[in-house]
Amino acid sequence: MAVNTVEVQPDAFLEVEDLHLSFGGVRALDGVSLSVRRGELFGLIGPNGAGKSTLFNCISRLYTPDRGDIRFEGRSLLQLPPHAVPALGIARTFQNVELFKSMTVLENLLVGQHLSLNYRLWSAFLGLPDARRQERTARERVLEVARMLGLSRYLGLPAAALPLGLQKRVELGRALVMGPKLLLLDEPAGGLNPTEVVELADLIRRIRDLGVTLIVVEHHMGLVMQLCERIAVLDFGRKIADGPPEAIQNDPRVIEAYLGEGEGVA
Ligand code: ADP
Ligand code: MG
Repeated sequence: MAVNTVEVQPDAFLEVEDLHLSFGGVRALDGVSLSVRRGELFGLIGPNGAGKSTLFNCISRLYTPDRGDIRFEGRSLLQLPPHAVPALGIARTFQNVELFKSMTVLENLLVGQHLSLNYRLWSAFLGLPDARRQERTARERVLEVARMLGLSRYLGLPAAALPLGLQKRVELGRALVMGPKLLLLDEPAGGLNPTEVVELADLIRRIRDLGVTLIVVEHHMGLVMQLCERIAVLDFGRKIADGPPEAIQNDPRVIEAYLGEGEGVA
C-alpha cells in the first residue's frame, strides 16, 4: 500500500540544535544538541562552568546564542521576543534564587499568576470539574500551589525573612503558578539540607506526574541519578554523554570530567 511519507515527529517537544555561545574567549556552549520528550524528567549535569546555566539562559531567552536553534513544540524560540517565552509555557528557577525580597511570599507567587495560561494543567492541579474550576479566582489557585509546597503559613512574610530552602520553594511556586508545560530547575537542591533534598525529590516527581516536563540542572549527583530518566552531560560547553542514569554513571568520559572536580559521579 502506498503511504504518504510526510515525516512526523510526535515526540518533538524541546529540540536544541548545535547551540554556540561565547563570552569573549570562553566557549560557554560549543555545539550543544539535545532533544527532550514531552513528559520526560531530564537531568543536565556537568562540572562547574560547563555551560548548564548558559543553556537554560538560552532556552528562556535571557541570552541569544551566536549560532544554532532552539525549537519548542516545533517553533523556533529564537524567532520570538524573550517576553513571549513564559506565555508558551516555559518557566524556570535560577541558580541564585531571584525573588522580590521585600515583597511577601503571596505577592511573589502572584507574580507567576500573571503569566499563567495553561488552564488544562490547572484542572489537573486542583482535581476539579471544568465548571467549578472556572469559578476559582487567581488567588485561590495560588493558595493551592502554596499548600502543595507547604508554604501556606509563610504567605504573609517578606520573602527575605525565609531561610534559603523556603525561598527556593517560593521561587519554584512562582514558576508552578504559571502552569508551565516545561519547567527548568537550575540547581534546586543547592544549599538544601538532606531532609529538604528528599522532600524536593518527592516534589519534583509530583510535578512531573501532573504532566509537566522538567529539565533539572543539579550538582547533587545522588538526586539526579535517582530522579531522572535521561541525563545529558556537559563539559567545557560540549555534550559528552546523553543516556539513562546507569549508562552515564559508568561512562568513562563522564567519570574523567568529574575527576578534576574531586567529586564522584555517584
Ligand atoms: P555552569 O552553570 O555549568 O556552572 P555557566 O553556564 O554558568 O556554567 O558558565 C559557563 C561558562 O560561561 C563559564 O566559563 C562562565 O564563566 C561563562 N559565562 C556564563 N555567563 C557569562 C556571562 N554573562 N558573561 C561572561 N561569561 C559568562
Ligand atoms: Mg550554573
